[in-house]
Amino acid sequence: MIRAIVLDLDDTLYLERDYVRSGFIHVASYLEDRGLADSAEVFSFLWAGFEEGRRGDAFDSLLLRWPQIGRVENVEALVERYRQHSPNIELREPAAFADLMNLDLRVGLISDGWPTAQRAKLDALGVEDSFGSTVLTGDWGGRYAKPHQRAFTTIEQEFSLSSSELVYVADNPTKDFIAPNERGWLTWRIRMPGQLHHALEPTGNIASPRLELPSLQEVVAEYQAGS
Ligand SMILES: [Mg+2]
Repeated sequence: MIRAIVLDLDDTLYLERDYVRSGFIHVASYLEDRGLADSAEVFSFLWAGFEEGRRGDAFDSLLLRWPQIGRVENVEALVERYRQHSPNIELREPAAFADLMNLDLRVGLISDGWPTAQRAKLDALGVEDSFGSTVLTGDWGGRYAKPHQRAFTTIEQEFSLSSSELVYVADNPTKDFIAPNERGWLTWRIRMPGQLHHALEPTGNIASPRLELPSLQEVVAEYQAGS
C-alpha cells in the first residue's frame, strides 16, 4: 500500500525550459542594464542555442559573440547570477498539485541541482512549505546526486516507512529511477511534451520506471485507483 508520494522538481512539477528561459531573460536584462549589450539580442542568441540543443556552455558562447561583455564579466559570474535569480516559473498542473496535497498520504521531494537555485524554484512555485520532507541532494555535495541512494534512505527514515510504501515520481530515465528501483520503491515517470528528456528511453530494467503517466493528474488518479 502506498503511504507516500515523493516528487522530483525539475520537469516534474514545472517545465525546466521555462526556468532556462527565465534565467536567460534575467541575465540578458542585467547585461543591458550595464550597457554591455541589447537584452533582446542576447536573449534571442541564448534561446536559439538552447533550442538547438546547446547545454552547459551558453555563456561561453555569449562571450565569444559579444567580446565586450567578456572584458568586464566572466562565465562564472554570469552562471552565479543565473542560479541566484528569482525565476518566473509556475506549476505545470496547479489543480493536480492541490489534489495531491489533499490525499491521505505523505508527500516528499527529492531534487538534484544547485541548492540555491532549487530553493528559489520552490519559492517561485509557492511550494517551499508543501512537503513533509524536502531533500536537496546538492546540500550534501554533487556526489550524492541521483542515482545515489542517500536521498531515498533519508526519506524512508524521515517518514518512518518501508520502501514498498513509497513511490518516486520523476521524469529522467537516465538517473531518476535507478536508486528507488534498487530499494524496492514504486517508480512512476511523468512523460509530457516540453520536458528536456521527453524522448529519452531508459537503458535497462533497473533504470526503467514501473509505470509511465502523461501528467500529475494521472498520478493522482493512479494512486486513487489503487488505494
Ligand atoms: Mg527532473
